[in-house]
Amino acid sequence: MNQPLDARVPRPAAHASRGRCPAAAPKDPTPCEGPHDAATLVDRHGREVAGCVHHCARVLAGLDGARVHPFVPAGRALEIYSRARELPPFAWEIGR
Ligand SMILES: [Zn+2]
Repeated sequence: MNQPLDARVPRPAAHASRGRCPAAAPKDPTPCEGPHDAATLVDRHGREVAGCVHHCARVLAGLDGARVHPFVPAGRALEIYSRARELPPFAWEIGR
């Protein structure tokens, strides 16, 4: 009862209080690189999350079926894909 309509939508600001972009995984200790809204990722269910280039690449590496949003400029999207290709999934779990 009295539940807001958007209660099922993840809160983009969930991690913002720690000064990092919404794409930064809670267990990933690395700082952001550049603007916090440099790109948007879309997961296989169509959910979107904005983030810096660094964290978008790190999340993309471990998120099966995810892609960079088509509105992201091609050069930036390529940067994210090429960084993600060099990363293991959940890089922070092995200290990278
Ligand atoms: Zn970030």
